Amino acid sequence: MSNQNRQITLAARPDGFPSESDFKLATSDIPKPNEGECLVQGIYLSVDPYMRGRMRARPSYVAPVQVGEVMGGGVVGRVLESRCEDLKQGDIVEGVLGWQEYAVAPQKALRKVDPALAPISTALGVLGMPGLTAYFGLLDVADPRPGETVVVSGAAGAVGATVGQIAKIRGCRVVGIAGSDEKVRQIVDELGFDAAFNYKTTKDYADELKRLAPDGVDVYFDNVGGAITDAVFSLLNVRARVSVCGQISQYNLEATEMGPRLLWHLIVKRAKAQGFLIFDYANRYNEGLRQLSEWVKQGKIRYRERIAEGIENAPKAFLEMMQGKNIGKQLVRLSPE
Ligand code: NAP
Repeated sequence: MSNQNRQITLAARPDGFPSESDFKLATSDIPKPNEGECLVQGIYLSVDPYMRGRMRARPSYVAPVQVGEVMGGGVVGRVLESRCEDLKQGDIVEGVLGWQEYAVAPQKALRKVDPALAPISTALGVLGMPGLTAYFGLLDVADPRPGETVVVSGAAGAVGATVGQIAKIRGCRVVGIAGSDEKVRQIVDELGFDAAFNYKTTKDYADELKRLAPDGVDVYFDNVGGAITDAVFSLLNVRARVSVCGQISQYNLEATEMGPRLLWHLIVKRAKAQGFLIFDYANRYNEGLRQLSEWVKQGKIRYRERIAEGIENAPKAFLEMMQGKNIGKQLVRLSPE
C-alpha cells in the first residue's frame, strides 16, 4: 500500500451544469487514527444529486463544500486499523468519508455492514440512504393504499426504482417517468412497474399520463420538479399526497425557473404536498433497513448499479449521473473488494 491518499477536491464553483474542471485530483498522506477512530480504505464511493447543492456557495440544510476542500460523500470501505472499541481490522463499514481513497472516522460516524446480507455496494444504494429515502418518503410521507395510482419521476434511478417497487408491494398501480427508452423498458419489464414513459421523447406529459393513469393520480413521488411535476399536478385526485423528495431538474439553474402557479390544485383536490429529508428518519433507519433487506432477499425489490472505476473518474461519474446515464445507483470503485 502506498502512503498516498488520492482525493477529489472542489476546484471551482460551477456556473450552470458542472464540468470536470470544477474538480481537482489531489494527494495527501494517509491519515492516522487517534484513540476512538478507525482508518478506513474506501471500496465504493456514492455520487449523488445532493452534491450539486454542496458545490454552491449558499448554505442549504448542510454547509457548502469550500473550494479546495475534499468533496463529501458516502463510502463503503474496509477497516485497516481500528482504535475503536466495537470495530476490528477487516470489518466493512459505511460512512460519509468523502471523495478519497482513505479516511479516518470515529466509531459513531460508521455503520457496520454485514457482507453476508447482500453485496456490500448495496449499503450505498438499495440498503443505504437512497433505499431509506424511497421507503420513508413513500410509506411515511404519502402512505399509498392498495389500488391507488402512484406516479414516480426519476423512476429508473436509485431512489425512484425502489419507490416504484415498494408501491407495487403495497398493491398500487405504478406509473414511472424516466429519461430513455431503455430505462422505460427496464422499470416495466424487470421491476414490474405497470407503465412508464420517456419524458425526453414525449411532447405532452399530461396527455400521456392521462392515458397511463386513467383513474388519476393518488400519490406522486417527485424526484425531479419542473414541467414533469406541473403535468402530474394537473391530474391529482381528491386527497392525493405528493411526496417532494428532489427537484433535480432545477439543480443546475442559476436563476429560478418561472412556471405555472399550480398550488390551487391542492385546494380544489384537498391534496397534500410534503417535502422531507431522509436525515429526519435517522432513529428509524434500522426499521427501514430490516424491511428493505427482507424484500431484497425475497426478490421483491431488485436493483441495478452502474460502477465507474477509480477515484480519478469520480467527477465524470457524478456528471454522467446528473445527465441520466445511470440506471439504478451510480457508484465509483475505489479499491477491489
Ligand atoms: P438518480 O435518480 O439515481 O440519478 C439522478 C437522475 O436524475 C438521472 O439518472 C436522471 O435520470 C434524472 N435527471 C437528471 N436531470 C433531470 C431533469 N432535468 N429532469 C428530470 N430528470 C432528470 O438519483 P437519486 O440518488 O436516486 O436521487 C433522486 C432524487 O432524490 C434527486 O432529486 C435527489 O436530490 C433526491 N433525494 C432526496 C433525498 C431527501 O432526503 N429528500 C435523499 C436522496 C435523494 P433521467 O434519465 O430519467 O433523466
